[in-house]
Amino acid sequence: MPDSLPPLRELLATAVAAVGGAERPGQTTMAEAVQDAIRTGDHLAVQAGTGTGKSLAYLVPAIRHAVEKGTTVVISTATIALQRQLVDRDLPRVAKALAKPLKRTPSFAILKGRRNYLCLHKLDGGPADDPDDQALFDPFAISRMGREVTRLREWASDTEAGDRDELVPGVSEQAWRQVSVSARECLGVSRCPVGTDCFAERARAEAGRADVVVTNHALLAIDALGTAQVLPEHDVVVVDEAHDLVDRVTSAATGELSAAAVAVAARRTGRLVEEDLADRLAEAGDGLAMLLEDVAVGRLDALPEPLKVTLTALRDAAQHCTTAIGPEKRGTEADEASQRKQALAALEDVHDTAVRVLEAFEADTAHQRDVVWVTGDFGSQNPRPPTLRVAPLNVAGLLREKLFGEHTTVLTSATLTLGGSFDALARQWGLPVRQSSGARAEGAALDKEPPSDDGAVHWTGMDVGSPFDHGKSGILYVAKHLPPPGRDGLPPAYLDELRELVEAAGGRTLGLFSSMRAAKQAAAQLREGAASEILCQGEDSTSLLVKKFAENPATCLFGTLSLWQGVDVPGPSLSLVVMDRIPFPRPDDPLASARQRAVEARGGNGFLTVAATHAALLLAQGAGRLLRSMDDRGVVAVLDPRLATARYGGFLRASLPPFWSTTDPAVVRGALSRLAAAAG
Ligand code: SF4
Repeated sequence: MPDSLPPLRELLATAVAAVGGAERPGQTTMAEAVQDAIRTGDHLAVQAGTGTGKSLAYLVPAIRHAVEKGTTVVISTATIALQRQLVDRDLPRVAKALAKPLKRTPSFAILKGRRNYLCLHKLDGGPADDPDDQALFDPFAISRMGREVTRLREWASDTEAGDRDELVPGVSEQAWRQVSVSARECLGVSRCPVGTDCFAERARAEAGRADVVVTNHALLAIDALGTAQVLPEHDVVVVDEAHDLVDRVTSAATGELSAAAVAVAARRTGRLVEEDLADRLAEAGDGLAMLLEDVAVGRLDALPEPLKVTLTALRDAAQHCTTAIGPEKRGTEADEASQRKQALAALEDVHDTAVRVLEAFEADTAHQRDVVWVTGDFGSQNPRPPTLRVAPLNVAGLLREKLFGEHTTVLTSATLTLGGSFDALARQWGLPVRQSSGARAEGAALDKEPPSDDGAVHWTGMDVGSPFDHGKSGILYVAKHLPPPGRDGLPPAYLDELRELVEAAGGRTLGLFSSMRAAKQAAAQLREGAASEILCQGEDSTSLLVKKFAENPATCLFGTLSLWQGVDVPGPSLSLVVMDRIPFPRPDDPLASARQRAVEARGGNGFLTVAATHAALLLAQGAGRLLRSMDDRGVVAVLDPRLATARYGGFLRASLPPFWSTTDPAVVRGALSRLAAAAG
């Protein structure tokens, strides 16, 4: 261990010079706050606007700590794009630059869930995955999957990491399942005949030796859920893109149960136990298939008695099959051991999800832990069979105990304060809100029941600002004169307004719509007689559409949710961001509506706590698409007048960057025309 390392500021300056940037005040403030958090053990939530250079502001103190203490720091991201940026661009340069002052080259590794890596045992002839019933009867799907598996075999002989994200173009989930295993299906390195060459094991071993491990929120959640110890020992976690943490953790903790999954479990079990046991499971699965066809898609507020009986039968049948399979006998061949693992994993899924669904209806609304809903799509070209889903209403307790309770945690993103305060997100993360900094905007109402066991958790909220001068570089325009949005698509007045704005801007427009239907409607209408080319999400791959949009300033790109958060187009190709309506969750969104109901059952304001918070986060993310570099100028236009007129409008506006604001359409069209003329 080095005796004394150079001070943080010196290391930061070296790292910044190596990546070719200039030191920025927000970056230095953030780096020092991260270092303080690591030293004191107090958690830190730090909002850092685009252009702050926040990745270096946490990488440098994280690396310094790892080298000084001989420990590992985990960095978690929500998106593959940021993961790639860290591993392919930032970390190699920073590690090289800091090698001399730290007297050794810091090491880093990327770690994902086992399902993301090619399993050589399965590829070498381990038991194939059972296609689900739908795929069995679809010859087109089978032949496509055959071609994909052939391609995967060719790729397997070339790839060095066996990482699914490196396979471009990707393959279907069904094909990938033929060459991968979950953690529970894996034989274990000591048992596996090709364990010494295993990609997942190699990645784990590398992560265990690294100073910095980059992972994703899903794996962080699996580690926290305690179902498997997947991350190496670590004392500090940096959560980047922390605005997405709760959604990603919720997804990782969501269980699903379908008749197809039961059929797969029964088929796998049938090879290992007496026929009548597996048949009993299969019959209960058939019962589930029949019942789910009659249950309406959406949230389940009560468990119908026949469904309760069937779930109980499924739970018991899965348990009996598990018992019958029993512990592994000495001398079992690898293939048989593998079959056993696969069967047990499928049975555990069926059993545990059935138990969760049954238990979800035992508590009253205020104390309910899980929400259950049915999904399915019967009428479309891509029908999906009915499936029961069960998700936690709240992940605050889990995060408080397993993330904040066990590691010093730094949460960062360009959007962490909503309505001017960290409170809304802190509450979702399970952090006590009374120590939060920042004033809460009028209209922000929060859940009435604060966490009760939060006394030992200390944290600081800090906004290091943004290098942009929002008041001079951007305008927030709210079309106050328009009618409130309707239920049946975009009203004609919205389309007229949109056309006028797009014409004034000369294209250069990112249209963020609350539904795909609205995006398509707007694209179809504006294409009639428009001077600009209108691209619409879904007509090509999103990355290709964004590339076209960035290359040609006269182009517009319309789309929905993934564009709200994922578009990074600096320069004159983007000078207008239009949002059609305040992005509240849909009233039939099972999770949001159940969360809202639970807050109301405790006497809080469900709409403001859940729906307004959700909308504020998305609005801020959408508005964040406008200014991506210091020279960018432009307009964020919100067609929904409620942003200016509703009581909660103050909370939502206070969640947006501090643009100069107007409700005058002539003023905003004039500004857009001048910008278009200046850009040529
Ligand atoms: S150790 Fe597990 S994941 Fe690796 S090759 Fe063997 S079975 Fe597959």
